Amino acid sequence: MKKTVLITGASRGIGAASAKLFYENGYNVAVNYNNSEKEAHEICSQLEGSIAVRCDVSDEQQVINMVYEVTSRFGKIDVLVNNAGIDAFNLVTDISTEEWKRIFDVNVLGTFLTVKHIANQMINRKKGKIINVSSMWGICGAACESCYSASKGAIIAFTKSVAKELGPSGINVNCVSPGFIDTDMNSTVSEKDKKIFCEGTPLGRMGRAEEVAETILFLASEKSDFITGQIISPDGGAVI
Ligand code: NAP
Repeated sequence: MKKTVLITGASRGIGAASAKLFYENGYNVAVNYNNSEKEAHEICSQLEGSIAVRCDVSDEQQVINMVYEVTSRFGKIDVLVNNAGIDAFNLVTDISTEEWKRIFDVNVLGTFLTVKHIANQMINRKKGKIINVSSMWGICGAACESCYSASKGAIIAFTKSVAKELGPSGINVNCVSPGFIDTDMNSTVSEKDKKIFCEGTPLGRMGRAEEVAETILFLASEKSDFITGQIISPDGGAVI
C-alpha cells in the first residue's frame, strides 16, 4: 500500500521540491498551502493523485479540517513534514509584538498543531515519521532575525522533546536545519550579501530546495528507522 505524506507549505520552495520528490518515490502527496492557491494546484496537476489542501497552520480548526481531509482521501498519514514557515528581517528593537507573535504562530504553533492532530493516528499504528524544518539560525542565531531564530530554536527543542515522548510508540521525530537555500524566502537578499554568505560557507554556494528535499525524504524512509531526535543540516557546512 502506498504511503501518504502531508507537507505543509508545499506551494513553493523547499516544500514544493519535497512534494515532487516524494511523488517520484511513490508516495501519495498532500500539498498544503495558505495563500499560493494557483501554485499549489499547478504542482498537483503534475503529481497525479495528489491533493492541494488550503490551511493556515496557525489556525487549529483549519489544521483539524486539513488532517480530516487528507486522512479521508488517503486513509492515513504516514509522514508529516512541517515545512511551512515565515521570516522577517528586523533589528530586535524594531520588531513589533504583532510581528513576533505572527512568526511564532506560523513557525512554532503551526508545527505543534499538526503534530498534535496527527500523532494519535500514528500512535495507534505504532508507526510514523515526523520531520520538522528548522534552520541553521535556530542553532546559531542570526543578527536581525532574532524572532525567526528563536522560533527555529523552539522547533529544535520541540523535536527533541516529542522524539522522546513518541519514540516508544514507534514514531521517529527529526529535524532538518537548512542553510542558505535559493528560494523566495531569500529573494530580497542582495547579490552582494549572497556572495559574502557563500564565501563564508565551506562548500561556497547556496543550497537548492531539491537538496533539502533529499534530506527530508531520507528521514521519512526506512533507511533512517534508527534515527530520532536528531538535527540534520543540509547547509554546505555553514554551521560546523
Ligand atoms: P518559501 O519559498 O517562502 O515558502 C514558504 C512556504 O510556507 C510557502 O509554501 C507558504 O505557503 C508556506 N506558508 C507560509 N505561511 C503559512 C501558513 N500560515 N500556513 C501554511 N503554509 C504557510 O520558503 P522556503 O525557503 O521554501 O522555506 C521552507 C521552510 O524552510 C521554512 O520553514 C523556512 O523557515 C525553512 N528554511 C528556509 C531556508 C532558506 O534559506 N530558504 C533556510 C533555512 C530554513 P503560501 O505561499 O501558500 O502561503
